[in-house]
Amino acid sequence: MLKKFAYGLLGLLVLLVIVVLIVLIPPHQQIRNFNSAIPSFEQLSHALTSGSGPAAISYITTASQKNGSKTLGHAGILLEWPDGRSFLIDAGMDRETAVAFGAPFESLLGSDPSITFGPIEEQLGSQINQINGVAFTHLHSDHTAGITAICDAMLAPATIFQTNDQAKNHNAFTEAGQNIINDSSCNSSLLSTDVIKPVPGFDGLVAIAAGGHTPGSTIFATKLNNRIWVFAGDITNDMDQLTHNKGKGFLYSYLLIPEDTERLEQLRLWLADIDNSSVASVLVAHDWDAMQSSEIPAWRPGGGR
Ligand SMILES: [Zn+2]
Repeated sequence: MLKKFAYGLLGLLVLLVIVVLIVLIPPHQQIRNFNSAIPSFEQLSHALTSGSGPAAISYITTASQKNGSKTLGHAGILLEWPDGRSFLIDAGMDRETAVAFGAPFESLLGSDPSITFGPIEEQLGSQINQINGVAFTHLHSDHTAGITAICDAMLAPATIFQTNDQAKNHNAFTEAGQNIINDSSCNSSLLSTDVIKPVPGFDGLVAIAAGGHTPGSTIFATKLNNRIWVFAGDITNDMDQLTHNKGKGFLYSYLLIPEDTERLEQLRLWLADIDNSSVASVLVAHDWDAMQSSEIPAWRPGGGR
């Protein structure tokens, strides 16, 4: 009887492992196909010399969540050009989505509950109408959830710029984000296939197809006051992982999010080199502590810290 039970249990376990493998193997194979060329720092610097670039950069935090000594942030990056037009990188989350997103971190990791600051269109008020362009570092829900309301709040819809990989290649975690973009009242435009992709209409802003975290993960770079700023999205979860070349761990990269760990290491080393340069800084999307201590100010109505 006991033997039968043991065999039954073993059979169930084997079945479970097979199901997990069937679910995980295809996205793991897929994510390993996105290895676009990465420009050298010299090429990137050169691409950013000619454009006029933004006159101000700030971050708009929609939610934060304390996890031990670190605080996770969910922010959009606002770039403002001298002629009054703005560009937004990542859309953050509305209050309800942010609270729901943070709930598993509370129960599994013992994180504090999410603190919400309101969606971007609420914080920006009428200044939302200055945003003419939007882009995403990738299409996970914590970066895309806010876009429907942002586009709806605009008097004239902005254009959402995506790389070919981001718009067309999806896995189970990015499809919903693309659907939100397609259903939004904003327009859509594909970026060029160049290694360094200029964002049309926004001189001094470029995109680089990164992959690694999602098929369409994209890194954005721009220049302000002679400093190059690189927005790396979720290539690492914090700057410590980036500067010390640390992966996110087996559970995250293999079971939770199907990532290409080799590609991520290549990107980490490349980004760490850039960050080490005296003329450039890298920011990752969720390291709120690093964002707050960076030279980029939190967005305030009328500007300034
Ligand atoms: Zn994220």
